Amino acid sequence: MKANTFQVVLPAIGASSNRGAMGWCNISIIQSDGNTILFDTGSNDDRAELLAELEKMEIAPARIDTVFLSHLHYDHCCNIEVFENARILVSARELEYVLSGEYKKYQDPYIPYGMIKYYEKRFTTFIEGEAPAPGLRTVALPGHTPGISGVVLEKERVILTGDAVKNAYDYTHGIPPYAIYDGAAGLKSYTKIPAVADVIVPGHGRPFTVQEGRISYVGGQKPVDIRIFPNQEHLDDLEERVFQRIVL
Ligand SMILES: [Zn+2]
Repeated sequence: MKANTFQVVLPAIGASSNRGAMGWCNISIIQSDGNTILFDTGSNDDRAELLAELEKMEIAPARIDTVFLSHLHYDHCCNIEVFENARILVSARELEYVLSGEYKKYQDPYIPYGMIKYYEKRFTTFIEGEAPAPGLRTVALPGHTPGISGVVLEKERVILTGDAVKNAYDYTHGIPPYAIYDGAAGLKSYTKIPAVADVIVPGHGRPFTVQEGRISYVGGQKPVDIRIFPNQEHLDDLEERVFQRIVL
């Protein structure tokens, strides 16, 4: 069996504003023994960039055979309609959390219920330990949501966690992932990771490793261009736009 690989297609941008979090998560491709798996799909707003990056990688959306959703928040699951040939994998617990309406009990505002209900029949569910493809294994990492799950590249010791780990800082400082469901469970889920992986691809930060408590980031950085358009009357005046290029 060939080695499994992962590549971040759209890197996360860790950002928030006084209008809430800007949901820009890592979107990755895992290649496993002839299978092409998209790990999370981002939000609707990511679609154009996602398709452009996949084109650069010469991966047609129709070639993606599996879309793995770490959980069902809008910033991770909203482009499934693009991947018409893919089986859409989500944990049985996560799908139940949404379709049973349990998410309302936690006042979880990030569930695009209507979209998920509309595509209900497209989902294939799994339970912890099932293999989405050879050499891969699913791991339940409850806390952020009850059914959030990661994928481990077993031989390569890489884990993609979605928001079960938000970023390297939170993970190494024992700060739970934003606990919509259960913060203590989220911290407990952290403890499952070192046994199976050295490289962690979190939900909203750069991939990293931890050695003796020190964080080392894995892979390159991509600049983020921030543009803010203050007033309609200034839209024709480039100088008046607030523009910032940031390397995270
Ligand atoms: Zn989330």
